[in-house]
Amino acid sequence: MQKSILILNSGSSSIKYKLYDMDGEFVLASGLVERIGEAAGKAYHRVSGENGIREIELSQSFTDHRQAFDHIFGVLGNPGLSAIGHRVVHGGEQFHCPVLIDDEVIEAIRANIPLAPLHNPSNLLGIEIARELYTDTPQVAVFDTAFHQTLPAVAWCYAVPREWYERHHVRRYGFHGTSHAYVAKVAARLMGRPLESLNLITLHLGNGASITALREGRSVDTSMGMTPLEGLIMGTRSGDLDPSIVFYLERTCGLGAEEVERLLNHESGLKGICGSNDMRAIHKASDAGDHIAQLAIDMFCYRIRKYIGAYLAVLGKVDALVFTGGIGENDPLVREQVCKGLEGLGLVLDPGKNQRRCKESTSLHGSHGPIAIYRIPTDEELEIARQTLTCIEDGCG
Ligand code: ADP
Repeated sequence: MQKSILILNSGSSSIKYKLYDMDGEFVLASGLVERIGEAAGKAYHRVSGENGIREIELSQSFTDHRQAFDHIFGVLGNPGLSAIGHRVVHGGEQFHCPVLIDDEVIEAIRANIPLAPLHNPSNLLGIEIARELYTDTPQVAVFDTAFHQTLPAVAWCYAVPREWYERHHVRRYGFHGTSHAYVAKVAARLMGRPLESLNLITLHLGNGASITALREGRSVDTSMGMTPLEGLIMGTRSGDLDPSIVFYLERTCGLGAEEVERLLNHESGLKGICGSNDMRAIHKASDAGDHIAQLAIDMFCYRIRKYIGAYLAVLGKVDALVFTGGIGENDPLVREQVCKGLEGLGLVLDPGKNQRRCKESTSLHGSHGPIAIYRIPTDEELEIARQTLTCIEDGCG
């Protein structure tokens, strides 16, 4: 029997899905409903059938998530699902791996809403609707935070009153776990070695960005913290900054906590520095002589280099550095600037390999570099589908 697995990513105003036949890992259908709750909604679907691939694009309003799910399940028909895998952003400390969803798991996801108020409620809504519509189909939650539950206390603890952790769960959790896990496994395959024997630094550079240090295949440090705001400079997030800036703004400009939170998450990062969060547009502006756009690129790369230095020190010995995400996969200039001057630390980029454009995973290191460098396209949905399958076949992996 075909092993069909549906992956759902239910966000606050959009729902993305991908349907896999896991025998061969083929994508049977994929799509997106966006601007849910707005007057001008949109839906895109790409469905493969007996007569080839059908592409559907619709402009239609979707009043709520339930209507959007009805629409998606209408397009998919009755695919005879083996399981549904749900992306869930915050699993707190409870979830170290994917779990079969039951009432207890739902309550635990609900309990983590204060830690991820923008994401967990819509993830939960997707789970509840899918459970109502597919009562007999096993449903699995795959958490962005789970991969980083192996962090040692020295890396996850903040230097703040202990009570903040004990009573309010203030600690570092880390995110982008499925992406870091996926590219780490591909790197191990490319190196022909078991993941458990490798120390890696994985760099996910998209609109959100994070870097992870893996010792013997397990996450031991990562740049995002209690929320995705910490760490690298991102499209619209500041990454690391002095927390006193928040109090200063409150005192001197009367800015409230909510407004500062919005500004740091949505108006900062590359966008805050130079007005755009699209790296392609920033390169264009810089090429045209815009010094602030060049400063944004320089700051973006400088922050990454600081973290690479830190993680080389954390790990002691590193086997490979991996670039992934929209920028990591497609931007040779950023990769070059990140690695430039790190030859003495073992990172030697081959300029020819770095410039070559292709869709597949490729090595980028020169023949004399002791640390391998890879460009690996990430595939978070496939990783969620694989983890979902493992969970229903073998239990928590
Ligand atoms: P998200 O985190 O939203 O999934 P992506 O991984 O798609 O984001 O990455 C988006 C970023 O990747 C944007 O800054 C975009 O400009 C950048 N990007 C995409 N393609 C290229 C390219 N060819 N060269 C440079 N940057 C690119």
